[in-house]
Amino acid sequence: MSDSRIPLAGVIGAPIAHSKSPILHGHWLKRYNIAGHYVPMHIEQADLGHVLETLPKMGFVGLNVTLPHKEQVLALADVVSDRASIIGAANTLIFQKDGRLHADNTDGYGFIENLRQGAPNWDAKSGPAVVFGAGGAARAIISALLDAGAPEIRLTNRTRARADALRADFGAKVQVVDWVQSGNILGDAATVVNTTSLGMVGKPEFRVPLDGLNPNAVVNDLVYTPLKTPFLLAAEAAGCTVVDGLGMLLHQAAPGFERWFGVRPEVDEDLRTTVLNA
Ligand code: NAP
Repeated sequence: MSDSRIPLAGVIGAPIAHSKSPILHGHWLKRYNIAGHYVPMHIEQADLGHVLETLPKMGFVGLNVTLPHKEQVLALADVVSDRASIIGAANTLIFQKDGRLHADNTDGYGFIENLRQGAPNWDAKSGPAVVFGAGGAARAIISALLDAGAPEIRLTNRTRARADALRADFGAKVQVVDWVQSGNILGDAATVVNTTSLGMVGKPEFRVPLDGLNPNAVVNDLVYTPLKTPFLLAAEAAGCTVVDGLGMLLHQAAPGFERWFGVRPEVDEDLRTTVLNA
């Protein structure tokens, strides 16, 4: 691609209309006065390979990837980052100048940066972490918590077999606890994260009793609709520091934007307001 071409990026998925990525990248493009564009693209799985070959020829410098393509793109990439490989999924693609396709996963980075921004005194090393849920998002969260130095992760999921599978992948620092026992493992937790979809608008309520929460814990919900979930309200009532899930969405987008458009973008109140009001 000649340098005079306007850089293009976008998000691929099916469905894609709900994605907030065009709003947040659009906000940054305007804010940093960059002559680029970011577009949502509905791509069916059967077309994925063809699309990834064609887009760089059209001036695309990279993509975000959402459901259902996050796993499949790994097999199509020429270079896979360690963190994408560990998680088994990518959310950020870079069409490199040498023609190679680079796949990365920035979800864990977004999770950690969100906690650091929302709870500046938080330190993963200061005690055990409790993770509710063992789906796709949990893989990124467990990997990031271990990287950040969490001494132990207590993992609990309605379907125990999924939690056992994560323990097998991540090793002995991950302890699996039965879902019905999960209210009893909170007393000395330094970090507590809900990675289930419970509590999201339109989904069932989060019903695990949270009265045993350690008031010194930092508590985060990946669900951000509503912004203050019942899980976070219960944690706040227990005296915990709470961090909502919107910041993870915003922070995970920053590394891709920097790679594609050459500016490290800021995650601030202005961006949050733009995304919330969209
Ligand atoms: P997923 O792979 O479908 O996993 C869903 C998880 O929720 C599983 O652990 C599942 O347990 C649990 N769950 C669903 N219904 C349940 C119920 N009735 N009772 C108990 N557990 C239930 O989804 P995911 O990709 O991991 O995403 C999980 C949540 O994180 C979603 O709400 C997603 O929007 C959110 N998320 C947010 C961000 C962000 O940037 N803030 C990023 C990624 C994901 P089973 O295994 O028993 O089914």
